[in-house]
Amino acid sequence: MIDIGVNINHSFFLNDLSVVLSEMKETGVTGMICIASDLEESQTIHALSQQHLGLWHTVGCHPHQAKTWTNDSKALCEALIQAQRPVAMGETGLDFNRNYSTPNEQRAAFHAQIELATQCQLPLYLHERDAHQEMIATLKQHPDLAQKSVIHCFTGSRAELDEYLALGLCIGITGWVCDERRGAELQAAIPHIPLDRLLLETDAPYLLPRTIRPRPKKNHPKYLPYVAEEVARLKNIDMRALIEATRANTARVFQIPL
Ligand SMILES: [Zn+2]
Repeated sequence: MIDIGVNINHSFFLNDLSVVLSEMKETGVTGMICIASDLEESQTIHALSQQHLGLWHTVGCHPHQAKTWTNDSKALCEALIQAQRPVAMGETGLDFNRNYSTPNEQRAAFHAQIELATQCQLPLYLHERDAHQEMIATLKQHPDLAQKSVIHCFTGSRAELDEYLALGLCIGITGWVCDERRGAELQAAIPHIPLDRLLLETDAPYLLPRTIRPRPKKNHPKYLPYVAEEVARLKNIDMRALIEATRANTARVFQIPL
């Protein structure tokens, strides 16, 4: 199992990364994709991925951080891609839920990253909150890119899911699916995700699966099996079949030899 979304640049993990990785491997999680929230962090996580086996990384600028995207960012980002060979461009996208950056700042950073991903032949690692219609309209203008991209931490409705699937996107599922209160709509949508479009992620240290007992303080990539178990239960398939399918999807989308 590969965790396709870990926010590794967090003191909770960095204080003892080798312990984090060995604990993760003990639960059958053999690797992770470290996701970037801005260009500075892209460099930090790239350095970590060079030091440890089973770590891959993205390069990009999260919509919350879009205010840090300047006229120089595109060239810097392109240089990072050439030098570091990330597995995806992101997190990138639109988040009109909190608007930590203004919608126009988010659009500028997102559109520049779409151009870079197209040019460098990288999948987009997409983040979207309360911006579904604009996200769909934007991706429709880039159908080839959309087809090989990922909507990470999908938490939406069946109708939203169907629109993402129609564009060819892969769907990242987090521990949100283990939340019987907030996750009911997502739980109902899970059976409709084709097996060859599913990806599993923790988004650690956030989004702790609520099915873990006793309840830990923070999420960790070692808890990915809780997400997998819940998805397998909802899809009514064997856990091994789910693990094999998501491994193949991860290898295909991120061009990782697994
Ligand atoms: Zn995100």
